[in-house]
Amino acid sequence: MSRVKLLPEILASQVAAGEVVERPASVVKELIENSIDAGAKQIEVRLQRGGLSLIRVIDDGLGMERDDALLALERHATSKISRAEDLAAIRTFGFRGEALPSIASVSRFRLTTREHAAIAGTDIVVNGGRIDAVRDGGEAPGTQVEVRSLFFNVPARRKFLRAEATEARHVEQQFFLQALAHPETGFVLVRDDKVVRQLPPTASLRERIRDLFDASLLADLLEVPARESAIQVSGWIGRAGVSRSTRAQQFLFVNGRAIDNALVTAALREGYHTALMRGQYPVTFLFIALDPREVDVNVHPAKREVRFRDPQKVREAVVSAVERTLRGARDHWQEQFEPPALPQRSPALLSSLPELAPPFPAFPAPAMTPSAAIVPPPSDTDMPSPTRKNAPAFQIIGVLSKLYVLMENAEGLVLVDQHAAHERILFEELRRRMEEQGVPSQRLLLPQILSLPARDAEWVERNAATLRKMGIGIEGFGANTFRLESLPAFLRVPEASIFLRDVIDELRSTARSSSPLRLGEDMIAKTVCRHAVKANDPLRYPEIEKLIADLLACDLPYCCPHGRPTMIQISHLELEKKFGRKV
Ligand code: ADP
Ligand code: MG
Repeated sequence: MSRVKLLPEILASQVAAGEVVERPASVVKELIENSIDAGAKQIEVRLQRGGLSLIRVIDDGLGMERDDALLALERHATSKISRAEDLAAIRTFGFRGEALPSIASVSRFRLTTREHAAIAGTDIVVNGGRIDAVRDGGEAPGTQVEVRSLFFNVPARRKFLRAEATEARHVEQQFFLQALAHPETGFVLVRDDKVVRQLPPTASLRERIRDLFDASLLADLLEVPARESAIQVSGWIGRAGVSRSTRAQQFLFVNGRAIDNALVTAALREGYHTALMRGQYPVTFLFIALDPREVDVNVHPAKREVRFRDPQKVREAVVSAVERTLRGARDHWQEQFEPPALPQRSPALLSSLPELAPPFPAFPAPAMTPSAAIVPPPSDTDMPSPTRKNAPAFQIIGVLSKLYVLMENAEGLVLVDQHAAHERILFEELRRRMEEQGVPSQRLLLPQILSLPARDAEWVERNAATLRKMGIGIEGFGANTFRLESLPAFLRVPEASIFLRDVIDELRSTARSSSPLRLGEDMIAKTVCRHAVKANDPLRYPEIEKLIADLLACDLPYCCPHGRPTMIQISHLELEKKFGRKV
């Protein structure tokens, strides 16, 4: 007896809906994308009860004639592709021809549409996939799709819907993605008859970000500088040290399509590298544009995922765009240190100020032997008079809690975390040394023999050259056994073998051993932290001044190698508010 049969059309659509329509937010996504594909300049999204009872999307796009509108409700009916070759270079958001029939099969659905030149439009009512009425209608040119009682006829799916507020949040997130991807289109979001977002069409992404988020976010963002390349990376990203504890503000787009992509996410982190705190996520509004033939969007029914033909090139483009952007912000950042036009105190007075405590040893690494010193220690006397002529481009007021250097600029008060600043300086110095001739290392009095688990042993063998550049001298000494002969000179570790095991554990788990340089950077960042100036090591004035000058000369002075900021600014306005001078 034959048991294989073709699914009835409606059932087939409901099955397809299982992939495309997960929740109200996915309906909103498909409908907005259709509107954009239809050239809409203005899109309104209305929700009742988080979209559970009603979703309505209204656009002023092309509209459809009656036959097309009816056809659009059939499965695999699309105006966007017609040949297999088209699939290889998709330029529209839709192409599967499945959204409208899928949505219509699991809701009470109504499509009202009118072409601009037409006298009358068409109004089609569909219930659970069955067309119930087709008549004249459609007042304004464009298209309106109304979706009521989503999943009313698929109880199994309805059960998976969450509370109204949760669904509304997902819709809002989707709305944000679409609004960011299309600043030139006006958007309105109406929730339970209240206008919650009204976004006029704008000329730039910057204005769209301003309209969507708090305007103060812009101050935390840097524009990715444009560059001629087959893979264009543009948009706005958070300054070094700006981060969030979730990915909610990490927006990624490929050819205007919001995507999730592990490769790009990893590239972003790599670009930020030392400018991001552990466990934090960067803030990005990043747009990647490339030839549509270079990217396959037909991977995922909801098109959240894409596949790149040359992932390595995309990775490199993203990493270098982020690095360039962060480094490019330096000039502006340095300007923040400029003293106000009329200095309040003279440096001469200051030099007598912090007669604080025991003189700080060799600068900058406390435990360093003079021969290995990275920067010559400052003289114990007052600042040499040439220094005086080139007066520093900052004005130090004092030191708070033996930790924060206080400075004054035109904006108000500047605070520098001396520990974070020192870590950054040391990090960049050591990295430079590593790249050039290797970090000076010191022989252990007694070489240590270590036997390691197979996986660690393999890792050490693979990375021995980098470890040596980092000043860790290690040689094979039989199966899975090594002899540790030297350590970086600036380190002071009580137990060399324990230190090495820590290094292995930490570095292996970061999984960033992609390049020896990165591995070395990670290592410096991890070891430097513990050996830089301790929070309350008192520094004397010339040392502080040198610290600030060295910080300003760093590539990425904004944060320590772990992504914590080195400097914060408290403006006059903030102070005035605190003192009640201004409200
Ligand atoms: P796809 O977008 O993959 O082509 P859909 O099922 O979403 O499939 O839509 C089917 C067709 O209906 C589209 O190709 C388009 O021609 C037409 N269409 C859908 N929505 C609109 C709209 N808002 N305005 C004009 N035409 C639309
Ligand atoms: Mg579509």
